[in-house]
Amino acid sequence: MGSLIAAVASYCDIKHLGGRWHVRIDDVDPLRIAPNACTSILQTLNAHGLHSDIPVDYQSQHSDAYSDALNQLTPQSFFCTCSRKQLKTFAVYPGRCRQKKAPTANSSTRISVGDNKITFHDLILGSLEHDLSVAPGDFIIRRKDGLTAYNLATAVDDGAEITHVVRGQDLYPTTAAQIHIMQILGLSPPIYAHIPVLTFADGKKLSKQHFAPALNNAIATENLRNAFRYLGIHIRKNDRWTVQKMLDWGTKNWDLKKIPTQLPLFLPKT
Ligand SMILES: [Zn+2]
Repeated sequence: MGSLIAAVASYCDIKHLGGRWHVRIDDVDPLRIAPNACTSILQTLNAHGLHSDIPVDYQSQHSDAYSDALNQLTPQSFFCTCSRKQLKTFAVYPGRCRQKKAPTANSSTRISVGDNKITFHDLILGSLEHDLSVAPGDFIIRRKDGLTAYNLATAVDDGAEITHVVRGQDLYPTTAAQIHIMQILGLSPPIYAHIPVLTFADGKKLSKQHFAPALNNAIATENLRNAFRYLGIHIRKNDRWTVQKMLDWGTKNWDLKKIPTQLPLFLPKT
C-alpha cells in the first residue's frame, strides 16, 4: 500500500500538469532483487491502471552512462579501502582515504562533498538546506563489488530527463547527495515532492520486511480508493467506477496541498 500511494501520487501529480509518467525499475543491484520482483511490480501497477507513458526503463541497462559519469567525477573522487569495522565508530566518513587517487583491489569509490550545502525547494517540505559534510559526508558512488551505488545511478537518470520526482519521505535523506552529483555533472535537478510515508504506530515504515500485507490486485479499485484517501482525495464507494475512472478523478482533483503532512495508521483490509 505504501508503494501504491507513492506511485499514485507521482502519476496524478505529473498527469495533472499534462506530463508523462515514467516507470523506471531501479535494478542496479541484482543481488537485492528477488526473482520475479519486477514482473510482480509491473503487474500490480497495471492492475491499478498505472501504465508507463514510455517503455519501462531499467537501470541495469544504463551501465555505460554510469561509467561516463564516474569518469567525469574523477577530480572529486577518491578510492576507499576502509572496512566496515574501521568506520563503525564514525557517524560521518572520517576522510582516511581522501588522498588515494588510484584504485586498489577491493576499493570503493567515494565522492568528496567538501563544505557543499545543498539548498532546494521541496513542494511538500518547503525550502531546505542540507549540509553534506554533516550527512552523509563523502559518500560511495561505486561499490567495492563494482556495482554503481544507488545515489549515482539515480542522480544520472533523474538529472538526464526527469522533471518531477514524487516519492516517499524515507528517500528524502538521499536527495542532497543526488543533487551534489547532478551539480558536478552539470545536470538539472528535478522538482521534488516528498510525501509522508505510511508507518506503523511505532514509526516503522510499512513494508514487506515488517509483514505489511501484500496488495491484492483483485480488489484494485478498493486499493486505489484507500490510496487516494491517504492523499487527501475522498472517493465514495461506487461499484461502477473502474481504476481508470478513479485515476482520472484523482488527477483532476490533484492538489499536493491536500496531502496530510502525517499519515494516520490504517491497515486496509485485504
Ligand atoms: Zn576509506
